[in-house]
Amino acid sequence: MSIAESRGTSAANAPSSAASFDVRPNPSAKTDAERAELVRELAFGKVFTDHMARMQWREGEGWSDRRVEAYGPLQLDPAAAVLHYAQEIFEGLKAYKHADGSVWLFRPEANAERFNRSAVRLALPELPVEDFIGSIEALIATDAAWVPGVEESSLYLRPFMFASEAFLGVRPAHVIDYLLIASPVGPYFAGGIKPVSIWVAQGFHRAGPGGTGAAKCGGNYAASLLPQQQAYANGCQQVLFLDAKDDRFLEELGGMNVFVVRRDGTVETPRLTGTILEGITRDAVMTILEDDNRKVIEKDITLDEVRSGIESGDIVEVFACGTAAVVTPVGRLASPDFDVTINGGEAGDITMGIRQKLTDIQYGRAEDAYGWMRQVL
Ligand SMILES: *Cc1c(COP(=O)(O)O)cnc(C)c1O
Repeated sequence: MSIAESRGTSAANAPSSAASFDVRPNPSAKTDAERAELVRELAFGKVFTDHMARMQWREGEGWSDRRVEAYGPLQLDPAAAVLHYAQEIFEGLKAYKHADGSVWLFRPEANAERFNRSAVRLALPELPVEDFIGSIEALIATDAAWVPGVEESSLYLRPFMFASEAFLGVRPAHVIDYLLIASPVGPYFAGGIKPVSIWVAQGFHRAGPGGTGAAKCGGNYAASLLPQQQAYANGCQQVLFLDAKDDRFLEELGGMNVFVVRRDGTVETPRLTGTILEGITRDAVMTILEDDNRKVIEKDITLDEVRSGIESGDIVEVFACGTAAVVTPVGRLASPDFDVTINGGEAGDITMGIRQKLTDIQYGRAEDAYGWMRQVL
């Protein structure tokens, strides 16, 4: 099931095997005071909770050994296939604390299903949806004290799976480890939302036809780091990739999907071609905008039309979206040939409106009319 197809499914009804995880408490778990100190200033992905969840898969045996145990370094054979051939996938989602202290996930079954589509592409075993959700619920129950409560903070969850078999032959590994780690995160933009500048990748592409662009695999990110450096060198924070075949069409940023807003209020985003990662935030944004009676079009969008649209005033806003940064305004688009400012470099109303509507649902400030939220505590 694609993410768009799963729009109508109820997150609350997704199955969970949380009860079958064997919880072995961390004997050196942080004290309340130590934890409070660690979460005082939250940078993204630097602080981790006391525990991690894990499972292992073996060829011919399937998944077993569901556990929650102390967070800590892994023992990995130097010949573990992942270190050589990058047979690895991951997911990213958040747990949100509501004002009444309850804790909720946003469309976790969509992450579970995308994880399995990524698994198929990387020749990894699929993980039952109930184990994906079960691992999250078991870990959050154990590390409940780590879910931050300050505004716009959350517990970032990182499920991942990799080839741990010690074997240098090139074939899908016969031993696979699944792990889930969690990191309390503060607002992505400390000190308020600032529009980002984007550099158009020159001579590099994120993914090609038939490649792994639609899978959430570490290898895609490895390939995006050099172009990302180009962006930094040109004074930009993010890189925009064009399609590999024609080098003309917008695809996405290194880890976020992209939208443009026309002067008449129409919103456009690149259609899914197999080289773009189908974001759950992207789908939620489209759904909410459509319910607001806004026209949302998935289509091929050329860099030329975006550049001229910004220059002529026909394109009034550009934004990027993904779980980590939610919805991020783009204030500037640059390449060796041009350097254009969008909406005077300020965040636009449609961008900030959709950001508000989405975070209101996630943080329980607005009714969840879509059945997207699942209570876990
Ligand atoms: C994860 C990811 C996104 C955003 O997906 P969400 O489900 O919205 O978090 C976009 N692009 C890439 C390359 C990604 O890896």
